[in-house]
Amino acid sequence: MMVKKVGLIGWPVAHSISPAMHQAAFQALGLHDWRYELAPIPPDIVRQGLRALRDEGGFIGVNVTIPLKQAVMPYVRPDEQARAVGAVNTIDFRDNSGMNTDVDGFLDDLAAHGIAVAGERVIVLGAGGAARAAAYGLARAGAEVIIVNRTFSRAQDLAASLASSAGLQHITAQTLDEAAEQGARLVVNCTSAGMWPQVEETPWIEGVPFPAGAAAYDMVYRPSVTRFMRQVEASGGQAIGGLGMLVRQGAASFARWTGQTPPLEVMFGAARAALASSG
Ligand code: NAP
Repeated sequence: MMVKKVGLIGWPVAHSISPAMHQAAFQALGLHDWRYELAPIPPDIVRQGLRALRDEGGFIGVNVTIPLKQAVMPYVRPDEQARAVGAVNTIDFRDNSGMNTDVDGFLDDLAAHGIAVAGERVIVLGAGGAARAAAYGLARAGAEVIIVNRTFSRAQDLAASLASSAGLQHITAQTLDEAAEQGARLVVNCTSAGMWPQVEETPWIEGVPFPAGAAAYDMVYRPSVTRFMRQVEASGGQAIGGLGMLVRQGAASFARWTGQTPPLEVMFGAARAALASSG
């Protein structure tokens, strides 16, 4: 049996729950010759690492995580969305294409929770790769996007670069207190604050009133309920964790590589079980 390999590149990748999620999906669809493997690649040998996986490792494709999502861009053919976001999280080596399924994973999960953003004001916390994907997706979906970041100059750079490269309007950078005062339909945490093991961190500074009536989406999924989510719930808002986005971006990659409809419920179940067993 010729094994068909896909996997995850990043540095580090050891704590990923993606192998559990994809293996369960292969199993459920009877794709017994498919494997999902972890492939750690240090950031300074990205080109060589990609070549080794494709030419010698026999990989069909890979997911890409921190800190390589931007670094792989020169070595693949990014599609229009990945180019606009400036980051790739899925590669198909068969045509060396690069995609960004974080955007649709995020938008699909918002929709699954009944949150419509067209015409609404949304605060994006963070200015890294995840914030880029969220701000791009939200603006494309018709939201007015306000970017807030600990390092303010990075929020300004992100707003300017999305406006110029993707031609998106209605994206501005503001300070947290300015943004909070204006109110919003949704606040999205795209920072790593609160992610295990730094579970006591939060991107929402204590004492700043949370916008009345706003919901929150936390891209962090470990722990499943973050300190930020508890702050939002204490102020009466709906708070959604990032597991659904993780599963949906993985499902989109799975569909691309295998050509099969991903078994979403199986992937959710495996992802939850893997998180529970990793503490
Ligand atoms: P990144 O490029 O390293 O960006 C990190 C961002 O977090 C920066 O804006 C940084 O601010 C900010 N930050 C870090 N620690 C902070 C703190 N203590 N207080 C306030 N801001 C802080 O990372 P990324 O790729 O964008 O990922 C961000 C998070 O999203 C990670 O936790 C990642 O796991 C998660 N994520 C989840 C999914 C999913 O499917 N659920 C998908 C993608 C990413 P500075 O600019 O000031 O340094």
